[in-house]
Amino acid sequence: MSPDCDATLSVDEVASACPKCGELLDVQYDWDRAQTPKSLRDFESRWSSRNRPLDFSGVWRFRELLPFAAEDKIVTIGEGQTILQPSKSLAKYVGVNDDCLFLQYEGLNPSGSFKDNGMTAAVTHARMVGATTAACASTGNTSASLAVFASTSQLLNVVVFVGSGAIAIGKLSQALDYGAHTVQIEGDFDDALMRVREVCAAMNIYLCNSVNPFRLEGQKTIMYRVLEGLNWEPPDWIVVPGGNLGNCSAFGKAFVELKQLGLIDRIPRLAVINAAGANTLYQLHEEQGLRWNEGRVDGESINGFYSEMDANNRRASTLASAIEINRPVSLKKSLRSLDACDGVVREVNDEAILDGKAQVGAGGFGCEPASGASVAGAKLLREQGIIAPSDRVVCILTGHQLKDSTATVNYHAGQSTTGYGKAESPFSPGKFANRPVVVENDLDRIMDVLRGLVG
Ligand SMILES: *Cc1c(COP(=O)(O)O)cnc(C)c1O
Ligand SMILES: [Zn+2]
Repeated sequence: MSPDCDATLSVDEVASACPKCGELLDVQYDWDRAQTPKSLRDFESRWSSRNRPLDFSGVWRFRELLPFAAEDKIVTIGEGQTILQPSKSLAKYVGVNDDCLFLQYEGLNPSGSFKDNGMTAAVTHARMVGATTAACASTGNTSASLAVFASTSQLLNVVVFVGSGAIAIGKLSQALDYGAHTVQIEGDFDDALMRVREVCAAMNIYLCNSVNPFRLEGQKTIMYRVLEGLNWEPPDWIVVPGGNLGNCSAFGKAFVELKQLGLIDRIPRLAVINAAGANTLYQLHEEQGLRWNEGRVDGESINGFYSEMDANNRRASTLASAIEINRPVSLKKSLRSLDACDGVVREVNDEAILDGKAQVGAGGFGCEPASGASVAGAKLLREQGIIAPSDRVVCILTGHQLKDSTATVNYHAGQSTTGYGKAESPFSPGKFANRPVVVENDLDRIMDVLRGLVG
């Protein structure tokens, strides 16, 4: 990743950072042009062979675009069966033309988040190198994903590290149910990630966080499916929530490679949306003007930013726990993507995130709080005139609606009305709350109430 570093590892070596310069590793291919399709449309032939697991997978049916694994080593559990859903009501909310807003719903993955796209690739690589134990730190979804791959494939022992407190109950329940060894560390996600990297290096455990470059290879396919959903025509905007910035990094790599291979002629613009309480990328890219700069990223600015953050004991804080991250590991790679995709970064507060989430629920399949940031961000960029009304906008919904039902019920019902959930949300009930109606157990009273509701 560092422009002055020429270190190269072969695909069957294991490292979570470059042994020479310490930067993250990046997967580079000698494209075998004979294998690479002439047109993205060529992938459509796989729709008719869905009884083959590799053609069924929403990741591996594009395997010529992530050609690092022999077919007999690939671990797939049917990930990536996700869809691009047009939404007129969200178009209205965001402020674009009726037919211009699309939701890429990654909640349909086996573990309920986009993480499965990357985990199938990481677990495949773990198998290629003969690993027997894998680990990750997680705000919840990475651990759920790694755990389900372990339980279904029976190929790996899994240890997941979570911070204390911040994990949504639905996500924790998955890791436990899938049988992952779960270690809860005092501290937040940033602390847990630091520890798991140390533990993996010391104990020769295979690390599945997004420092693992193979995860990003799998996540590229989210963009291939977006293109597929748009009949292979690139949209104008991809809007994605930013946490550890793996998606942002993967999406840019996907488009750059497609362009190099002559498979698209135009790269969409990328908008990364931070929560205001975890806004490192926003601060650095928009406020301080930090840029990729052909790989010569100003490391001093980054160090200065983190020193100040530590000096003020500033901790990430947002109800959108999946993006509650102040030290995004893929920061530099994300700058490369923003550079390649003429990208912008915005921050939105928790109230805007939860309102966006409620609109997705009312006009789509629903999503977890972090995903609502993409809709809130698209709305903001439209208000700022950066997204035009005629732009075709794809918002990535990263996680399933049921992941964090506490946040949903608090928003709609308000803790005081119902007593559901535990966390007191300052925004409950929210602007678009759909409150349950409390009525006594009496037929006439119930029918009175119903006449008021449905006429
Ligand atoms: C992991 C996660 C994110 C953050 O994605 P990054 O690639 O780390 O930026 C956002 N939303 C959900 C639901 C997630 O699980
Ligand atoms: Zn290096």
